[in-house]
Amino acid sequence: MRVTLLGTGTSQGVPVIACKCDVCRSGDLKDKRLRSAIMVEEGLTRIVVDVGPDFRQQMLRHEVDNLDAILLTHEHADHIFGLDDIRSFNWLRKSPMDVYCEPRVQKNLRSIFNYVFAVNKYPGTPQMDLIDLDNKAFKIGQIPVIPIRVYHYKLPVYGFRFGKFAYLTDFNRIEDEEVDKLYGIDTLVICALRKATHISHLNLSEALELIHKIAPRKAYLTHMSHEMGKHSDLIKLLPPDVEPGYDGLVLEI
Ligand SMILES: [Zn+2]
Ligand SMILES: [Zn+2]
Ligand SMILES: [Zn+2]
Repeated sequence: MRVTLLGTGTSQGVPVIACKCDVCRSGDLKDKRLRSAIMVEEGLTRIVVDVGPDFRQQMLRHEVDNLDAILLTHEHADHIFGLDDIRSFNWLRKSPMDVYCEPRVQKNLRSIFNYVFAVNKYPGTPQMDLIDLDNKAFKIGQIPVIPIRVYHYKLPVYGFRFGKFAYLTDFNRIEDEEVDKLYGIDTLVICALRKATHISHLNLSEALELIHKIAPRKAYLTHMSHEMGKHSDLIKLLPPDVEPGYDGLVLEI
């Protein structure tokens, strides 16, 4: 299985518009963070988790010419506002895109992208089939998917385990029975917003604590704010089995 980190930034991305801080002005490409998303490939199946405002750039950067499905963790703008750009895949495949998400997320998509779901659609609108996601394992082509329920302050969100890999973003609470589903993984990509605490995201020390509990061979941080500091400084603070993720990092699992 191959996992590509398409974006590792928080909702505003890094650099932040108009910010003059050291991180936002850094010349290091590892400090340029598009909105968080990953691509997972196994055999002939290729899926993306989350479609934020940088989706177009992410698909172009990685020369992605086909996608079998999209999984959505939740409906915040930084995870769904690229959905209009699935049109290219609609044309290439001559079919709607399968979009897996829970019923609450579907309801919000129908409202936010009302033109996609209109009875009399404007010609050329994106086409998507919304497929129910609940807390049960399923398969997309050759990729096994185990949803993991986590909480983003009070908002229920899904993380996902794919075989020996798991992706958890936008949360700061997880029940023990959901942690149980993560034991035995090889690689974990997990959100860590910044060093200071936050109402709806794990901070660095909380993420490290959960990584220690799950104990994967290797963990990478994602959904990072400019307040987390530069990649080159952050990596020095982390234990050997944890690294800051960066855009374009490819993991072979
Ligand atoms: Zn987010
Ligand atoms: Zn900044
Ligand atoms: Zn969110």
